[in-house]
Amino acid sequence: MTTKIVKIDGEHINLHVIEEVATLLKQGGLVAFPTETVYGIGANALNENSIKRIYEAKGRPSDNPLIVHIAQLSDVYKYVSEVSDISLKLMNKFWPGPLTLIFNKNATLSSVITGGLETVAIRLPSNNIAKAIIKASGLPIAAPSANRSGKPSPTRAKHVIEDLDGLVDMIIDGGKAQIGLESTVLDVSSSIPVLLRPGSVTIEMLEKEIGQVLIDPTLIGEHEKITPKSPGMKYKHYAPKGMLAVVYGEDYLAIKEINQLVKEKEVAGYSVAVISTDEDKEMYQCENIMVIGSKNNGIEIAANLFKILRKMDEKGIEYIYTKAFSEENIGMATMNRLLKAAGNKKICL
Ligand code: AMP
Ligand code: MG
Repeated sequence: MTTKIVKIDGEHINLHVIEEVATLLKQGGLVAFPTETVYGIGANALNENSIKRIYEAKGRPSDNPLIVHIAQLSDVYKYVSEVSDISLKLMNKFWPGPLTLIFNKNATLSSVITGGLETVAIRLPSNNIAKAIIKASGLPIAAPSANRSGKPSPTRAKHVIEDLDGLVDMIIDGGKAQIGLESTVLDVSSSIPVLLRPGSVTIEMLEKEIGQVLIDPTLIGEHEKITPKSPGMKYKHYAPKGMLAVVYGEDYLAIKEINQLVKEKEVAGYSVAVISTDEDKEMYQCENIMVIGSKNNGIEIAANLFKILRKMDEKGIEYIYTKAFSEENIGMATMNRLLKAAGNKKICL
């Protein structure tokens, strides 16, 4: 299949291109486009064949459900059996935006999209291009991250092209995804909401709005043998090809340990890289130092994480070391993705 690649300026959207995308989606096609979180691969959520094509293009296991993207809040009522007061509050506060809510579904959507579950994940994105596409299609759009399963999520059109050229009908290049991490996933299908995936809508922001929010125990490393409620969280994710390890400890000790590990691997002939904050970069002795942002700017670190993990593969890096970042606010989401990328390989000093 030839993939058509088209640039769109998010500030001056070319409506002819949007119409072309909408037509493709109505005909069952797959189109990758930017959202404010990461790039998504969109298809008509009402068409089982299109949904199956998404799973094939991504190489995604069929029990890992997709998020349904809508263009206006009232569309939620078409696909769910009940909207609680709590979910309404959350939608009013955080939509459009990077919060996915899990509802009990009604019979409208196929269980192919929900991986056989009785619940459905729904989000109303804020990115101008994503909104225009969903609105013009007049359809609910299934749009998982536009990467091959297991790889870091794409934050630039270039990443999507690397993974999906020849596997989708069209890729819209709309610049970089602003946030750079996938949406927060919150289960509101039972009385107390449960956080299933951390994102840039933080637990503090959620609790300020609705009071108590539970955290799925698998997110905080407890109960390692139980299966996460969000099926996608059980799979290996975001992984670069090289071996990534995350070092925990006081700054001085952690940097010393990383320099030691780098030396051992470089002497043995491996290509090695360190992910560093701006503040620490002079302290490392390594041929490849990739600066992720200021340690005082969690938003910048989050936005650069997946780009840096992909860069590691481009450069053929075999061993990657990083100090753990702050877990405050969006840091919880960053550390969740980083540890998954590391296959949970921690070095605690
Ligand atoms: P992605 O589309 O790649 O951002 O991944 C979507 C995430 O939402 C995955 O971790 C899914 O497991 C999760 N998800 C989607 N639908 C549901 C659902 N009905 N219940 C729980 N988690 C879900
Ligand atoms: Mg994904």
